[in-house]
Amino acid sequence: GRKFFVGGNWKCNGTTDEVKKIVSMLNEAEVPSEDDVDVVVSPPFVFLPIVKSLLRPDFSIAAQNCWVRKGGAFTGEVSAEMLVNLGIPWVILGHSERRRLLLNESKEFVGDKVAYALSQGLKVIACVGETLEQRESGSTMAVVAAQTEAIADRVLNWSNIVLAYEPVWAIGTGKVATPAQAQEVHSELRKWLHENAGAEVAATTRIVYGGSVNGANCKELAAKPDVDGFLVGGASLKPEFIDIIKSST
Ligand code: 13P
Repeated sequence: GRKFFVGGNWKCNGTTDEVKKIVSMLNEAEVPSEDDVDVVVSPPFVFLPIVKSLLRPDFSIAAQNCWVRKGGAFTGEVSAEMLVNLGIPWVILGHSERRRLLLNESKEFVGDKVAYALSQGLKVIACVGETLEQRESGSTMAVVAAQTEAIADRVLNWSNIVLAYEPVWAIGTGKVATPAQAQEVHSELRKWLHENAGAEVAATTRIVYGGSVNGANCKELAAKPDVDGFLVGGASLKPEFIDIIKSST
């Protein structure tokens, strides 16, 4: 089966003291073995070194973004090579807050980023998801398929990708998708992968859910056959993140 995956996206939060406290909380927690669950926390760039130096070795780390190509004269950007150099194994790409809010990252740009990050040896948490308007107009699957296709167009090897389905209307709103809603899109996405990337990719690629996941709603979501884990925002800064890590067992 697919190994359960729990990502904690800290977004643009934290001070050095708060980061140290969260890492202590994680380090002290009793959780399932890394053979059974991948735990990946994603602090802001500036805190990557301190988290790397303090975090328990059975948990891993993701950056929240990286530059689309080789580094150089790109003020304010951080390259995939720098992350590799720092020993950061993962990167989150295509988060809706970057696709939509201010930054306007297009699906093609996200596809290019995913391909470049993989080429440098990073593992990628690639995010897709529809807005409320798109859901209400019945285009959920068309939207997430188009976002996934822009990645599939540039990527042949899926073994280092986790796909995160994060409906925009569920992010930071407290309006979690129902287990049935999540399962429906995850199974459609798996069918899409089957048809467009092959049976092996469909069977092995982890599709995780993100959007208002918390300690109280995670178990029911985790019980769905095509929900292979979570990408957690707000609750990843709190002790209930440990309950979410344990939700598959
Ligand atoms: P929340 O869990 O705060 O809704 O955020 C989800 C998310 O965007 C994770 O990447």
